[in-house]
Amino acid sequence: MKPESKAIRIQTPRTEEKEHSTPLYMTSSFVFDNAEDMRAAFADEVDVNIYSRFVNPNVTEFEEKLCALEGTEACFATASGMSAITASFLTFLKSGDHLLACRSIFGSTHTVITKYLPKWGIEYSYADLSKPEEWQSLIRPNTKMIFVETPTNPGLDIIDLEWLGQFARKNNVLLNVDNCFATPALQQPALYGADLITHSATKFIDGQGRVMGGAVLGKKDLIKEVYLFCRSTGPSLSPFNAWVLSKSLETLFIRMERHSSNALKLAGLLEHHPKIAQVKYPFLLSHPQYEIARKQMSAGGGVITFEIKGGIEAGRKFLDAIKMCSLTANLGDTRTTVTHPASTTHAKLSEEERLAVGITPGLVRVSVGLEHITDIVADIEQALEKV
Ligand SMILES: *Cc1c(COP(=O)(O)O)cnc(C)c1O
Repeated sequence: MKPESKAIRIQTPRTEEKEHSTPLYMTSSFVFDNAEDMRAAFADEVDVNIYSRFVNPNVTEFEEKLCALEGTEACFATASGMSAITASFLTFLKSGDHLLACRSIFGSTHTVITKYLPKWGIEYSYADLSKPEEWQSLIRPNTKMIFVETPTNPGLDIIDLEWLGQFARKNNVLLNVDNCFATPALQQPALYGADLITHSATKFIDGQGRVMGGAVLGKKDLIKEVYLFCRSTGPSLSPFNAWVLSKSLETLFIRMERHSSNALKLAGLLEHHPKIAQVKYPFLLSHPQYEIARKQMSAGGGVITFEIKGGIEAGRKFLDAIKMCSLTANLGDTRTTVTHPASTTHAKLSEEERLAVGITPGLVRVSVGLEHITDIVADIEQALEKV
């Protein structure tokens, strides 16, 4: 079956009720018929449900679908994207190791890397996604892992995954890719040799702004380690959220198609708007890594950024004038969401720190939703008029 079909047809075996849609297994534990069955389960001699912190049928269904889409052998689902990323670090990095990450990166990931990893003796450095020629000089003898987002949040920078896969293999380090923005519907990092793929399922995978979730994917032996770490430390995904997310995957491909076509239309229109200095979108010719985006992504994704002329004040005025779109931190929703990082999510950073991660004063991030494109364009354009 094609991935689109697998996302729909992979299913937990039916119960005697012969239900069509998978029921919700809202149970914290599972029962055994006798002492021997229970012993064998706890000895890992058989692959059965024991306790929902370890495994649950709804979670397993979600994991199997996501594996099929990413083209990986195994998956462990977690309670959020941040727990997936943190588990991927803590499973494979130990005191004395070094992590090389991309500088433009999700805010909480930046906090984990710069505040918590050093507390446990793990070193880090940041590299610029747009300057791969500098990466070799940043590799140290103790470098164990490379972590990147592509496209990045919110900078929308892109790195050549084919080049990066070879670079990681040559330097014998684990390559960990946060595939949140593209989703497996548009980009599969495993094709280029990514060892670990991390996800915030909260974003496009749920796609409807309802539940938190995350996942770590990769080869069986690596994900077994992640599973053992999480089985003991407990950042597991709840059965309810897994049930929601598994249903969400059934529509991921058609949603990503529409998010991407709406985003491309909006980006194209805004590119020539007199109040806008610059628009960034992976599938716009003007994107600095346009060729790479075309090579490794089947569409540009749902997020665009633009720079309003007039800096911070203009950005705030723009948000105030928005009528239909939602002012909210979430992205990857059916509803178009708009943020102004300099006055909100990144307001605590100095201007210099913001600029280092590509957040200019008038930068606006739009996660283009599934409303009719005419309504999205109308709202953005009327708000720009008021700036
Ligand atoms: C939101 C996000 C995360 C964190 O996911 P949560 O589900 O909010 O914990 C990680 N990476 C990227 C790129 C994100 O956008």
